[in-house]
Amino acid sequence: MPKISILMYHQVGIFPRPDAHRATFCHIRRFKAQMAYLHFFGYKVLSLPTALEGLFGKGDLPHHGVVLTFDDGYENFKHYAFPVLKQYHFPAIVFLVAGLLGKNAKWLEDDGRSGAPLMDRKTILDLRAHNVLFGSHSLTHPLLTHIDRQSQKREIAESKSALEDLLNEKISYFCYPSGDYDEAVVDLVREAGYEAALTCDRGATTPFDNPLILPRKAISFGDSLIGYFWKLHMKHKKKVQPAKQ
Ligand SMILES: [Zn+2]
Repeated sequence: MPKISILMYHQVGIFPRPDAHRATFCHIRRFKAQMAYLHFFGYKVLSLPTALEGLFGKGDLPHHGVVLTFDDGYENFKHYAFPVLKQYHFPAIVFLVAGLLGKNAKWLEDDGRSGAPLMDRKTILDLRAHNVLFGSHSLTHPLLTHIDRQSQKREIAESKSALEDLLNEKISYFCYPSGDYDEAVVDLVREAGYEAALTCDRGATTPFDNPLILPRKAISFGDSLIGYFWKLHMKHKKKVQPAKQ
């Protein structure tokens, strides 16, 4: 059965070794080695639309398909991850917190963590012109199952229209903040007109998955190339993550 590994990155850059939340940091040195690995071993890095067409539509799927996703839209994407992606011509999708463009990652600060800067409108348009794709990651990055229905609707639908206004194109993909969702949230994502949505549930993606709750594989700070290989090849079994981060 065809399988795709949708890899989940957050911040790529230069960091002191984090004590906690290691899945949200990837050192640029490791990131470069990981991209070189994909290139060298002939992985097919697909855009999310191409992968979805292969999984759920009429498209073909390569044997070793990988999709690269970046959550939250950190400003440092432009300086660190993007030049490496460009070097290999690897497509990627970045999920933006539409109500905080050009501001700090406030939800991290509220959680007592340091709030990194998020990319502003100009950076987003520049990157789009260089073929980086964007999706919605809500307006303010709440735990969606913890807020009332009206707020859920706003977070899901208004983030979509705000990004559509900015980019002047359809925004078709959603990513649940902190991987937090339930049936009602998934219904709202469908009603808002998204074609697919990504979770933090761990696993490879197959044609049997629901396009609105796609699993991913988190790449963390500690992933050596052996760990990376392990995630690409072995961690196919589904594991639903409790919402955290
Ligand atoms: Zn996030």
